[in-house]
Amino acid sequence: VKEDSAWDILIHDVRILPLSDRDPFINHGWLAIRGPEILALGEGDPPPHPARKKIRGTRCLAMPGLINAHLHAPMTLFRGLADDLPLKTWFEEHIFPAEGKWVNEEFVYWGTLLACAEMIRSGTTTFCDGYFYEDQAGRAALQSGMRGLVGQGILDFPTPDSPSPAESIHRIKNLIQDLSGSNLIRPAVFPHTVYTCSPDLLKECRSLADQYGVPLLIHLSETRSEVEEVMKKYGRRPVDHLENLGLLSSPLIACHCVWLTEEEMDLLARRKVRVVHNPESNMKLASGVAPVPDLLARGVTVGLGTDGCASNNNLDLFQEMDSAAKLHKVHRLDPTVMPSQTVLEMATLGGARVLGMEKEIGSLEAGKKADVIVLDLNRPHLQPVYNLTSHLVYSATGADVRDVIIDGKVVMESRRLLTLDEGKILEKMNAVKENILQRIQQKSPQES
Ligand SMILES: [Zn+2]
Repeated sequence: VKEDSAWDILIHDVRILPLSDRDPFINHGWLAIRGPEILALGEGDPPPHPARKKIRGTRCLAMPGLINAHLHAPMTLFRGLADDLPLKTWFEEHIFPAEGKWVNEEFVYWGTLLACAEMIRSGTTTFCDGYFYEDQAGRAALQSGMRGLVGQGILDFPTPDSPSPAESIHRIKNLIQDLSGSNLIRPAVFPHTVYTCSPDLLKECRSLADQYGVPLLIHLSETRSEVEEVMKKYGRRPVDHLENLGLLSSPLIACHCVWLTEEEMDLLARRKVRVVHNPESNMKLASGVAPVPDLLARGVTVGLGTDGCASNNNLDLFQEMDSAAKLHKVHRLDPTVMPSQTVLEMATLGGARVLGMEKEIGSLEAGKKADVIVLDLNRPHLQPVYNLTSHLVYSATGADVRDVIIDGKVVMESRRLLTLDEGKILEKMNAVKENILQRIQQKSPQES
């Protein structure tokens, strides 16, 4: 350790789960942060060195921040608006019309603020978003201090922010330009699905992503009806359709991937397509069970996501890990599939690989970004501790996260948000709800 300047943050007297090859587990140690990066970590007491801020972690655990690899942040505002419905009804009669009526710049801004507050509170430090007015999602996320990708949505038909795909393309280009100086929030291109984007539009999105070197996100093979619809329309299954259009040729982030054949899984592995698993959304919308153990066995990179709040209905990745592990066990009638270690990796380094950020985040290592969360283990449901990984997946929830550091900045301390005005955000939610309910009531007499 060099003596030239003080550390910005020292976390000490703490258990550390670095999730790196070098340091599997430190029972009692310390971690030093300077600027946005982890400077060093080690066993025992820290070497004597001045630190501007000290965080004592007695009976706590420091670990990498979780990575939510797929969500639609502003949809927090639709939380609980329409549940227990078939996906087609849910989408076509509730979500699409609701989006058409209510989604505007303010909606996206406040919805993303709410989402960031919820994510920070539950230990998520990086997210990958896909929605409309993503400049506003980016604005909110930058205020929160979170790290993430904001994917501007694009479809064949008019969307809340664009009367035509051409206008969406224009928005994407503006977003890429506006975020060119930002380290924390980066742009992405988000064609919604294979069945809501024409072959030409999909190819245009691919070349746009390649031209600017930004990630391409898509929902892929989420439901059986999607596969049937694409077969009917193009004579190919969705994965085959994308291969035929050249979309699998360079990194693609494919969300869901529930309905896959053996050949499609082989192809996804060969093309190095990155997959995001969203177990709670797949369960709630009864979409099916993604063959994640088979994808992992083929070496496919898999991350974990919550999907939008309307189909989950929260952004707590600790709960998502629990669901991911249990879903595959009951589905295969085999308690040995998806062990806690595998699931925890999906929510950390796996997610980092999905987003192409594995050199920066996903584990606690000197030289990586300081995205660190501190969990309070001194709670009845987390004692005794035989196996930390087991606790993180099967016992902990986001509410156990005490402190959150992102890019070397403390954004939550002792469960108090430091970057966001939580009171103001929560107060705004009353107005949002009243506004939405009022419009539903106005509309219902004509509709019924
Ligand atoms: Zn989604």
